[in-house]
Amino acid sequence: MKIMKFGGTSVGKPERMHQVAQLITKDSEDKIVVLSALSGTTNALVGIGDSIAKGEREQAKQQIAELEKHYQAFIRDLLSTDTAYEKAKGIIAEHFEFLNIILKISFSESLNKDILAQGELLSTKLFSVLLEEQGIDHKLLPALEFMSIDAYDEPQIGSIKVKLSQLLKQNSDKKLFITQGYICKNSRGEVDNLKRGGSDYTASLIGAAIKATVCEIWTDIDGMHNNDPRIVKKTRPIEQMSFDEAAELAYFGAKILHPASIWPAQFYKVPVRLLNTMQPEAKGTLITEHAGSVGVKAVAAKDNIIAIRIKSSRMLLAYGFLRKIFEVFEKYRTPIDMITTSEVAVTLTIDSKEHLRDILKELEPFGSLEVDENQTIISVVGNEISQTEDIIKKLFGSIINIPVRMVSYGGSPHNISLLVSAENKTRILQQLNKGMFGLD
Ligand code: ADP
Ligand code: ASP
Ligand code: MG
Repeated sequence: MKIMKFGGTSVGKPERMHQVAQLITKDSEDKIVVLSALSGTTNALVGIGDSIAKGEREQAKQQIAELEKHYQAFIRDLLSTDTAYEKAKGIIAEHFEFLNIILKISFSESLNKDILAQGELLSTKLFSVLLEEQGIDHKLLPALEFMSIDAYDEPQIGSIKVKLSQLLKQNSDKKLFITQGYICKNSRGEVDNLKRGGSDYTASLIGAAIKATVCEIWTDIDGMHNNDPRIVKKTRPIEQMSFDEAAELAYFGAKILHPASIWPAQFYKVPVRLLNTMQPEAKGTLITEHAGSVGVKAVAAKDNIIAIRIKSSRMLLAYGFLRKIFEVFEKYRTPIDMITTSEVAVTLTIDSKEHLRDILKELEPFGSLEVDENQTIISVVGNEISQTEDIIKKLFGSIINIPVRMVSYGGSPHNISLLVSAENKTRILQQLNKGMFGLD
C-alpha cells in the first residue's frame, strides 16, 4: 500500500482536483490519499479566527461569506451531474453553517482549532463526491478517528497504528482511501492540528504506521531544489538524497516539507518521493537511507531566529555550567537550534519567542545576557560535507562581504550552519547559489 499526499495547490482548482483523480487511479496498488485544504483556505481560516479573537465579528462574517462564495464557484466547475452538485452544495452549507454558529460562541484556542480544521474536511469531502461521480470506488477515512497527539503535541504513533489498522480492516474490501492531512485530536480529545504545512507530517505518519511501500508528496514543484526558489531565480531539483539530508533541509527552512515530516518515514524505512502534480512525468526527488552522492546538495534559510549570548567568567574552567543553562530551555520546552561556546561565553539560538521573557529571567543569574532578534540560519546541507574538499573555502569565499554572527560546523556531518542578520538572507542565498552551485 502506498501513500499519496496532495498539497493545497494540487487541489486548489477544479481542474487540478480532476488531475489528482487521474493520478491516483493510474496504477492498481492500494493507496491512502492524504489531502490538504484548497490553497488559500487555511490562510483564510486563520484570518477568520483572528477576527473572532479580536471581537471583530462583522469582519469575520464577511470573511466567512467570501470563502463560502469561493467554494460555491469551485463546485460549479468541479462537478457535472446534478446529484453530485447537490451533494457538494449540502457539504458546503453544513461546514459554513458551522462557521457561522462559531461566530456566536465566545472565542477560545480550541474553538480556533475547530475553525482551522474546516479546510481539510471540506477538500476531502468534495473530492470524495468527485470520485463518486466518476464511479471510482473509495472510502473516506476521518483523520480525527485515528490521528492523535499527546499532551506535548507529539504524534502518538502507537495509537495511530492501532486505530488506522482497525479502520483498514473494517474496510478490507476497499483499495482506495481518502483522508485529511493536518488535522488530529489532542490529549484532551479536542480537534487540533499538526501545525502549518502539517499534511506532509500526516502522510509520513500514516506511511510509518502502515509501513507503506512509498510515501509520495505531490506538490507544485518538481522535487527538493538546491536553493529556495521563492528567493533565488535559478535553482535545480535534486534527484536523490538521504533522510538525514532531507530532515536537515526541512528543519532548516525548505518549505516543501514540514519540519518534522521526515522522521516517521526514516524510522520506519519508508521511501519518500517528492513529485510535481503539474508535471507528473518529472523525476522529482527520491529520499531514502542513501544519499546518492557526496558533497553539497542544497542550502536553506530558517527565519525568525533569536540569538542569546550568556557571558560569564564563572564559565572559565568550570563544569556543569552548560547543563544548568540547558535545563532552563528544557523547562520551557524550547528547542535550541545552534550553539557555540568560548571559554567565557556561550551563544545559542531559538526559533520561538513564546517563553523568551521567562527564559531570560532564569538565565540572568548565570551572567550578562545579550539578545539579538531578527536573525536567520543559513544551512548548507549535503552528504559528508564537512569532509568535502574546499568546502570552507568555497562557502566563505562566496559570502566574503556578508557579516556572519555565528558558525556551526561539525555537529552533523551533513550540515554547516551560519547565523546572519535577517536583512542579509536574500543576498547570502543568491551568492551561495553562484559560489557553491555555479548557478547565477
Ligand atoms: P504544498 O501546498 O503542496 O504543501 P508548499 O507550498 O508547502 O506546497 O511547498 C512547496 C513550495 O515550497 C514550492 O512551491 C517552493 O516555492 C517552496 N520551496 C522552498 N524551498 C524549496 C526547496 N528547497 N525546494 C523546493 N521547493 C521549495
Ligand atoms: N492546510 C494546512 C496549511 O495550509 C496544512 C497543509 O497544507 O499541509 O498549513
Ligand atoms: Mg506544504
